[in-house]
Amino acid sequence: MAQDLRGALVGLCNPLLDVVAVVDSELLAEFGLKANDNGVGLTDFQKLLQTVTDKYETRLIPGGMGQNTLRGAQLLLPPDTTVFFGAVGQDESAEQLRAATARAGVRTNYMVNPDKPTGSCVVLVTGHSRSIVGDMQAAETYSFAHTSAPENWRCIEAARVFYTTMFFVEVTPETTLAVARHAHENGKAFAMNLASTYSVEQCTQLLTDMMPYTHVLFGNETEALALAKVLGFGTDDIKQIAKRAADLPTAGDKPRLVAITQGAGSTVVATGDSNEIRVYTVTPVPGDEIGDTNGAGDAFVGGFLAQYVQGEPVDVCVEAGHWLAGQIVRQVGASYPDGAARF
Ligand code: ADP
Ligand code: MG
Ligand code: MG
Repeated sequence: MAQDLRGALVGLCNPLLDVVAVVDSELLAEFGLKANDNGVGLTDFQKLLQTVTDKYETRLIPGGMGQNTLRGAQLLLPPDTTVFFGAVGQDESAEQLRAATARAGVRTNYMVNPDKPTGSCVVLVTGHSRSIVGDMQAAETYSFAHTSAPENWRCIEAARVFYTTMFFVEVTPETTLAVARHAHENGKAFAMNLASTYSVEQCTQLLTDMMPYTHVLFGNETEALALAKVLGFGTDDIKQIAKRAADLPTAGDKPRLVAITQGAGSTVVATGDSNEIRVYTVTPVPGDEIGDTNGAGDAFVGGFLAQYVQGEPVDVCVEAGHWLAGQIVRQVGASYPDGAARF
């Protein structure tokens, strides 16, 4: 019998509207940014946004890590499997986000803060690189009162797999801890993304607090290296880092799975209950087919979780993750191709 997957995958993160522009490296230098920066408060956001919209052609795309992941996962899942929580303002941007997520088949359960604009994110594409600067606004006012309201908590109770990122843990640790504990106490799975080196380095305590309840941990190679540094693993070998992270104490018996992606390099998976460290080759996307790698990691997680929520084995989860990530790197910006062929 087919499983009932309605509402099975819940995502919690910051819903942001991406402003994407292909720019010159001089612009990055002018604002003190590197080609692959990713964070909040890296530069004067308003001035950057103004300069980018004045000087370059921009595209508006619904963004935010968790929301990108859920849109991707939903592509591979039966209708109405995914539900997304986060905070927006009461403005045009919020409407654009609602419309785009609805088109992608993701049910949104936004907290609305009428006093702040919806958050946004400037995505500066140079060649195959992208530098991302966020301005959280309403997103960083998310409050646990929204999740714990009875009608919303019912969504939490109905779900089987949860996904968040360190960007959202930073906003509302009370929420992410409560949901992760719920997963722990009810035999469900809680998945989290390291999100950025900044998050790992600056919010180490929050990360450590979440870790015992985190059953699936995602990150890329630079975030893994940052993790090894702050936790004193004493190695820069990605395979060993993944294994050490998988072996960190858990609150219950469920072993932790750690998946580290490395762009076009192999993806490494380690689990707490096995000494085998698996390495999965990525099929390279030819340079002339790459739009940009924006959202690659989010798409990987989307594909992975779409299989994981259906109880598929790790090999299938990784294969789906690589497949969906391969689709998104062929696009400019974190947008999925229209009518993406089914994995
Ligand atoms: P992040 O976006 O978090 O930095 P990665 O860069 O590690 O994540 O990319 C995640 C996944 O996206 C990779 O595992 C791979 O499947 C795919 N990917 C990224 N860059 C490329 C590329 N140049 N060629 C093929 N696949 C890629
Ligand atoms: Mg990368
Ligand atoms: Mg990433």
